[in-house]
Amino acid sequence: MATIAFIGLGNMGGPMAANLVKAGHKVIGFDLVQASKDAAKADGVAIAGSAADSVKDASVIITMLPAGKHVVSVWSDIIPSVAKGALMIDCSTIDVESARLAHAHATERSLPSVDAPVSGGTGGAKNATLTFMAGGEDFAFAAAKPILEAMGKKIVHCGKGGAGQAAKICNNMILGISMIAVGEAFALAEKLGLSHQALFDVASTSSGQCWSLTTYCPVPGPVPTSPANNGYKPGFAAALMYKDLRLSQEAAKGSGAVTPLGAHAESIYEAFDHAGHGHVDFSGIIDHIRHLARK
Ligand code: NAD
Repeated sequence: MATIAFIGLGNMGGPMAANLVKAGHKVIGFDLVQASKDAAKADGVAIAGSAADSVKDASVIITMLPAGKHVVSVWSDIIPSVAKGALMIDCSTIDVESARLAHAHATERSLPSVDAPVSGGTGGAKNATLTFMAGGEDFAFAAAKPILEAMGKKIVHCGKGGAGQAAKICNNMILGISMIAVGEAFALAEKLGLSHQALFDVASTSSGQCWSLTTYCPVPGPVPTSPANNGYKPGFAAALMYKDLRLSQEAAKGSGAVTPLGAHAESIYEAFDHAGHGHVDFSGIIDHIRHLARK
């Protein structure tokens, strides 16, 4: 079993670190927020005084942070303290350029590194059923796979450094667009006098079926575990969806791809975020859609 440093013990990182403890690893965690450290400690994670302290005895270092700037800054801070040969894994969702920069920092010290963003939400993090999409050299991926398996059920090697992030933003562009589509369908059903349950029963077994409908249904009732039943508490915050859609559009511009629905979805989540709803689960976008009809 490995000694693993885990930096970023938030909604996702906290339960992921807890699953590594459950799998028998020694986990040394760090976060800037006291409540996250306390929760991780209750799950058996040893808490270090700083990010640099957490990595000293670790053979694997995992980061789960909000955005690219946090990952690049934390990796730059900790890499001088990391033991020779230790494996660096970043599970955050970040831009491809920052991911490549983080890999470059690791390579300067000959540390194997993997970008391994996840899909599956906080439920997947809690139940160790996440999907990991990984980018990195074959030998780094081979070393990371057994560690990631303690936190997920599907681990896909997508290619070289940055390929995991590329897969993630493509996936989340589908998710952002599909949540708006499902929200629009329920908003239309409401106007047509069709019950939520009736639309769900039809669409969930028809060609409208998708994850946004059957796992994260944006209205209360049909899927009791969806955030709609819990006051739209995240889950996956709308601000993070806006971030992912922004990343998809930056990548589209940089690569010459044209993604009109991705661009429109970004502008819809931007308006929702700027109206002060960034902390709400991203399925709460249905309220923004209903509001458009009242304008
Ligand atoms: P979060 O805000 O709950 O957690 C991030 C944590 O990082 C916070 O606890 C914060 O205090 C900590 N942090 C920030 N800077 C730090 C630093 N310098 N040192 C130590 N800790 C620091 O976010 P989350 O929902 O856990 O998401 C984390 C990442 O996972 C994001 O990139 C997000 O896009 C991605 N993601 C989230 C979900 C989801 O459903 N929440 C799903 C897939 C991917």
